[in-house]
Amino acid sequence: MHELIAAPYLDHHLLVRPGNPKAARVPASRYDELHSASGTSAVPAWLADVARQAWKIDLSDRRLDETVLVRSRSPYAYGRASYELNLGCNYDCEHCYLGLKQFAGLEWPERERLLHAIRDSGVLWLQLTGGEPMIDKLFPETYRLAYELGMMVEILTNGSRLAAPKNLALLTRLRPNRITLSLYGATAESYDGLTRRRGAYRMFVKGLDAAHEAGLPLDLALIITRHNAHEADQMRAFAGRYDLPYREYTHMSPTIYGGAETLATQAPDHLADREPFNGCNAGHTFFHVDPHGMATICKVGRDEAIPIMTTGVEGLSRLGGIADSLMLRTGGCTGCQLSGTCRVCRPLAKVYQEAKAPLDRYCQHATTRS
Ligand code: SF4
Ligand code: SF4
Repeated sequence: MHELIAAPYLDHHLLVRPGNPKAARVPASRYDELHSASGTSAVPAWLADVARQAWKIDLSDRRLDETVLVRSRSPYAYGRASYELNLGCNYDCEHCYLGLKQFAGLEWPERERLLHAIRDSGVLWLQLTGGEPMIDKLFPETYRLAYELGMMVEILTNGSRLAAPKNLALLTRLRPNRITLSLYGATAESYDGLTRRRGAYRMFVKGLDAAHEAGLPLDLALIITRHNAHEADQMRAFAGRYDLPYREYTHMSPTIYGGAETLATQAPDHLADREPFNGCNAGHTFFHVDPHGMATICKVGRDEAIPIMTTGVEGLSRLGGIADSLMLRTGGCTGCQLSGTCRVCRPLAKVYQEAKAPLDRYCQHATTRS
């Protein structure tokens, strides 16, 4: 299996190592040299130097085809994507924006085609998510193929299946770029209460301990809702005990079906200010794919989905135009005088507006406007 990936990434060229956050930028001429080299040739001296400096690995005297997977240029120039394997989940969080969380996903032949299309679109960093991706029956095959195709794979998980020996062996052998575990509370009482699943905290800690012990690259997403806000400091301390980086999430979104029921789970006193919205490359440099192979500009802006299984990778050429039109829709914000300092993008505002959410749930200018 490859030690390094050489790939075009947006308008430059990178060398990356699966399971390692470091990337080395190389001139186009170096990438071309690798791309046109015969597989059986030796690793060039300059590449062995880069590998030694960046990742402390010795590739001298090794064959190129045994060590470096050289990705081809793509006319689509995407760099990142997320793929929701299946909306099904073994938890039932009240805040979950997936709403019904229906179990459904592509069978293997379609999934194989989808992963090839994602690779052909130029994607180098691929996030596997769900639902809970690791309960999907084809998770191991999906992960392995994404890895073998030369994508740097990140997994978004609730951690409940991380301790399973089969999963642990796979992820230790083919290291992911990152595993992000959601943390739903600092005690079994609040964690199991929020996820509405007895024993969920125990499974989470078991998975986290196993992955931590195996040295896998982990970080935490602290989900702070009205159920666990009283434990926010304990959740930060929990991350500290494992010495893991973390991000906090306090804004709950309406469901992908337009339901507002999730909004009541927000802890109003803990809502963090959003960053000002300064534009976004959704649909241009990254995209999202749902369990049925429908591609959208991102997880939030799910309008005008492209059926990749029918169109193939070529269908993605329409995504940029779709993104531009979604960004121009003003919807319920028409005429707002404060749009220059708005902190929500148009697709996100639309989701809240369709769910008939109160203005103060998504607009930081709510008081001024009303
Ligand atoms: S673990 Fe994630 S996907 Fe599952 S119900 Fe909770 S929020 Fe939804
Ligand atoms: S929700 Fe808005 S800011 Fe976020 S990725 Fe989608 S378009 Fe971009």
